[in-house]
Amino acid sequence: MIIASNFKMNHTRRSTKAFLKKLKEVKTNHTIRVFPPATSLFEFDIVGAQNGYPAVNGSFTGEIGLEQIQEFNIDKILIGHSERRNILGEKQEFIAKKFEFYKNENFEITYCIGEPLEIRQKGIDEVIKYLKNELVGIDMNYDKLIIAYEPVWAIGTGVSATIKEIEETHNKLREFIQAPLLYGGSVKLDNISEICEIENVDGVLIGTASWQVENFVRMINQVKG
Ligand code: PEP
Repeated sequence: MIIASNFKMNHTRRSTKAFLKKLKEVKTNHTIRVFPPATSLFEFDIVGAQNGYPAVNGSFTGEIGLEQIQEFNIDKILIGHSERRNILGEKQEFIAKKFEFYKNENFEITYCIGEPLEIRQKGIDEVIKYLKNELVGIDMNYDKLIIAYEPVWAIGTGVSATIKEIEETHNKLREFIQAPLLYGGSVKLDNISEICEIENVDGVLIGTASWQVENFVRMINQVKG
């Protein structure tokens, strides 16, 4: 299983260091990923960047590019998170540009997709149609691709999608996606085991419940395998 933590805009450099130190002591067969903020990047093989501009460097105020990410020998990145799409206004064309750039740099790319509530309410066919639009321009055969399905209405709300909804969506996604499929959206200690046992769920991307290292470690230990 792949178990990933997205810090979003949480943790400082100091607290990230302490978090990673604790995590280093954990013995697990699972693949762990941690995405701290840009100011808290460290050279550690489980660490990835939450964002990256599709350029080595340049006049892109407030952004970080390949040069800054590679200073930490980081070769993993999160692209397409719904908060970047919806709050920061990233469009599919730009997201696909980022994907292409970091793919060409041989990064492991955790690529996020997820529908808003009004689409979920229209049923599974509309959900899949929406998710396919968020995959336009993305090379689905890239061998370092990981897809994270994160319904927007379940992110940070404390209310995860139901087991049935996750199962149905992942089964449909599996029809055209060979890459590992993570589920994200209010994964926590009391639902992680059940979610990870669903067919076609290859792991989880966790926000809120992962920010306390003790809780994250408990979650890792709870997943079978
Ligand atoms: C996320 O934003 O990637 C996420 C899954 O958040 P949360 O676990 O807080 O819903």
